[in-house]
Amino acid sequence: MKKGIHPDYKKVKVHCACGNEFETGSVNDSLKVEICSECHPFYTGRQKFVDKGGRVDKFKKKYGM
Ligand SMILES: [Zn+2]
Repeated sequence: MKKGIHPDYKKVKVHCACGNEFETGSVNDSLKVEICSECHPFYTGRQKFVDKGGRVDKFKKKYGM
């Protein structure tokens, strides 16, 4: 591998909004996500992000939906 051609792919810690941390490979120094496998409803089977629903309601009101 020649230096300067490929990005520096390294292990970084990903910080999730739920407080969970896990490692992944990335060219960035740190990552922040709003959802991860620990808190995603698809994996947990329950909905934690009530505030996101609120945002949708505001959006609907704003546009008269
Ligand atoms: Zn999470």
